[in-house]
Amino acid sequence: MKLTHECDLLVIGSGIAGQTAALSAAESGLRVVLAEKMATLGGSTVMSGGWFAFSGTDEQRQEGERDSAELFMRDMQEVGQHRNDPALLQAYLDDQHETYRWLKQHGVVFREIEISSGQSARRSHNSAIRDVMASLHEQFAAAGGITLSEHRATRLLTDDAGRVVGATLDAAGSDVEVCARHGVVLATGGFSRGTDLLRTFAPEQLNAIPFGGAGNTGDGLRMAWRLGADMADMSTVSGTYGSHPETGEVHELLTAYYMGAIIVNLNGRRFTDESQSYKTLGRAVLDEPEGLGIQIFDAKVRAKSHPGIPLKDMEAIADRGHLHEAATLDELAALVGVDAEQLSRTVEHYNAAIAAGSADEVGRESLCNGVGSLLPIDQAPFYAYPAKSLMTTTYCGVRVSPRSEVIDVDGGIIEGLYAIGEVTGGFHGAAYMTGTSLGKGAVFGLRVAQDAAARAARETLGAIA
Ligand SMILES: Cc1cc2nc3c(=O)[nH]c(=O)nc-3n(C[C@H](O)[C@H](O)[C@H](O)COP(=O)(O)OP(=O)(O)OC[C@H]3O[C@@H](n4cnc5c(N)ncnc54)[C@H](O)[C@@H]3O)c2cc1C
Repeated sequence: MKLTHECDLLVIGSGIAGQTAALSAAESGLRVVLAEKMATLGGSTVMSGGWFAFSGTDEQRQEGERDSAELFMRDMQEVGQHRNDPALLQAYLDDQHETYRWLKQHGVVFREIEISSGQSARRSHNSAIRDVMASLHEQFAAAGGITLSEHRATRLLTDDAGRVVGATLDAAGSDVEVCARHGVVLATGGFSRGTDLLRTFAPEQLNAIPFGGAGNTGDGLRMAWRLGADMADMSTVSGTYGSHPETGEVHELLTAYYMGAIIVNLNGRRFTDESQSYKTLGRAVLDEPEGLGIQIFDAKVRAKSHPGIPLKDMEAIADRGHLHEAATLDELAALVGVDAEQLSRTVEHYNAAIAAGSADEVGRESLCNGVGSLLPIDQAPFYAYPAKSLMTTTYCGVRVSPRSEVIDVDGGIIEGLYAIGEVTGGFHGAAYMTGTSLGKGAVFGLRVAQDAAARAARETLGAIA
């Protein structure tokens, strides 16, 4: 027998996008069901570094950081190689302050700001993301929201006019039908764990280390696809460069290259401009022997380690035995199996180019995305961190409007169906800027909830009239 639930809004997926939407809608008085296929909530979000990208914040002002919405827009377009949908970017910038304030009002503390991949200002705001998600969920329950964990959405339900009116969920082999009066929101994340979809859209990425939320197999994308949804950015899937080959379920990623390291292959040669987005580097490293890029740096960069802060915590990496140290570059090369003679030559050329202020062999001019002066590698001890590409995220998927309506292959709207977060495409274009995925999850999660509340109010008024 089928169990049936009725609600105003059905949100499928409990990451940052789903939980922001669910909480905001519940606080507006809507009856919300949040469905999650896994036993634990949070998807890739709770595995993430917790960085949100915002400009014009209190934290930036307090630290004298100059940033603006215009600069933010320019950076996103440059990182995305102008393949991102400007309307989605504009929607993010229009709503970023409201979202930032909403997060703070709901207890989020931004403990540090930092510059990272694709940014030309310190715009990444770090949060303790597990605590954030636990707290948002507590507030959702307190607002009367209903959570169905271990309920996997398998099919979207439509009425005779083709409008999406609910979904079928699988709960331990039994079907549960959820009817949703004011919309169904797909917030099912990407397909970093979806081997079949990776084989279809980005087969080369099967060589990256699998990572991301265990439930992120692309279910939402398939459900929308079945209804004729269009897709965007499907050719841009890339892992993130910077994780040790033995990285397990604990997230380990080092971006010493944004602090002054170079990256060499096993032949001791640099192969790309290290200041680019770590997604671009993730694509480049797959073509190198064994898919390996070894971060090489000296004592100056080692001193920039920031214990406890994701991407910068060399102490934790050293404790796991993944960071190699040696008194000379030759010894270091031997430790990590890199061609020693070539490594010395590579470092020599790099240092000489910095001293002369002349062009570097891979065209690098800055530490990160045009910002920060390059540092010679000349102070012992020397360090090496061998790293591969980690398949954390896919950043492509269902095409959406700035109101998160799902757009079909003919450019029409699939009524009643919305998509937010990593299941969507079109926002990032060719590559991603740190913090814009948690950021877009929250921005569009809040937007879609506000729209649902407005729709519900209109429809209720219409029914009374
Ligand atoms: C290691 C790592 C570090 C990262 N660091 C950052 C960072 O610092 N800043 C940043 O902006 N981004 C970061 N990202 C990317 C970011 O975390 C994700 O893109 C973002 O959290 C996605 O949020 P989401 O809500 O869309 O999806 P998720 O958080 O992945 O949530 C999707 C949920 O949907 C569930 N689901 C899937 N299918 C179904 C179904 N059929 N029925 C019910 N539930 C379903 C999944 O189980 C999952 O719980 C990182 C990612 C990783 C993996």
